[in-house]
Amino acid sequence: MLILMDLNAPREHIEKVKKKIVAKECTPHEIPGSRKLAIGITGPSGNLSIEDFLGMDSVDEVLRVSKPYKLVGREMKPDDTVIDFENASIGGEKLTIIAGPCSVESKDQIFEVAGSLKELGIKFLRAGAYKPRSSPYSFQGLKEKGIEYLADVKRELGMKIVTEAKDTHTLPLIAEVADIVQIGARNMQNFSLLEEAGKIKNPILLKRGLAAKMEDLLMSAEYILSQGNYNVILCERGIRTFETHTRNTLDLNIVPVIKKHSHLPIIVDPSHGVGIWDKVTPMAMAAVACGADGLMIEVHSHPEEALSDGFQSLTIKNFKNLLEKIEKIASVVDKRIDNEEIQISN
Ligand code: PEP
Ligand code: MN
Repeated sequence: MLILMDLNAPREHIEKVKKKIVAKECTPHEIPGSRKLAIGITGPSGNLSIEDFLGMDSVDEVLRVSKPYKLVGREMKPDDTVIDFENASIGGEKLTIIAGPCSVESKDQIFEVAGSLKELGIKFLRAGAYKPRSSPYSFQGLKEKGIEYLADVKRELGMKIVTEAKDTHTLPLIAEVADIVQIGARNMQNFSLLEEAGKIKNPILLKRGLAAKMEDLLMSAEYILSQGNYNVILCERGIRTFETHTRNTLDLNIVPVIKKHSHLPIIVDPSHGVGIWDKVTPMAMAAVACGADGLMIEVHSHPEEALSDGFQSLTIKNFKNLLEKIEKIASVVDKRIDNEEIQISN
């Protein structure tokens, strides 16, 4: 259920509505909008009737939400969510570029690639310290050491860090350093992890599961929002299909579809989506053209030496070329790359 109140409703009216919701054993979620203040309600909807709230001070309208996903849906919040960081934002008119190696491999490796990316104006560095690998014998990440190196990069280069939390017990450590906590495709339906991610303050980058439908992705995001963390960024990273000429099938259809159903920003990861480095740039261009709010790109100073996903990683030179192409596409869809004011071409 959704209660729409006057945008300038006095605090006491809002609190009275929220108190009534809590008394019915449900949870209120305050969602500011451009025209109305919405109070979303989650919990046992059978406890509530529209009449409970009609006639209360500053209440304009009470609506039932028809979709199974509530807080992530446009019914609840028509305006796009924009997530603000110091000197950056995700969603809205900006096109956010997150780049970096698949994994932190050593202090030198992460500083080398981060330094090059910073020179290109990139604000968000991606790199995994806890890696969910298909094989138990593959490189599993540097774990705590990796987080420590990412903290060093953050402190010394001033970059924002995007790194993955693989389970609930390492989440608190990761949340201390990460500006955005990534939840990977394999964990998209790890509901305990989603619930814990909903209790922290860090924005969450939620990647689409290998065989997840749009609705599954939105329901997983709903787990996070339902716990009070409203800063979720969705990520299309390719799905499994019968087609095997690329690692995955990048489902760009989902971008405009999500835009219709949800107010959350959606970015695209063409690196995992195609899995082959020379297909990354064309698919990144297509992602921007169809309305993605950003891109996540794997970049390595020496892809041939990478401990994970080297085959799909761009060199710095190729990444720079990608940025030049993306800049042109972005202007066609009225977006602007959100990078530091640094000239990327020459
Ligand atoms: C990654 O970003 O390196 C990763 C493991 O991604 P995914 O969860 O999409 O496979
Ligand atoms: Mn990877």
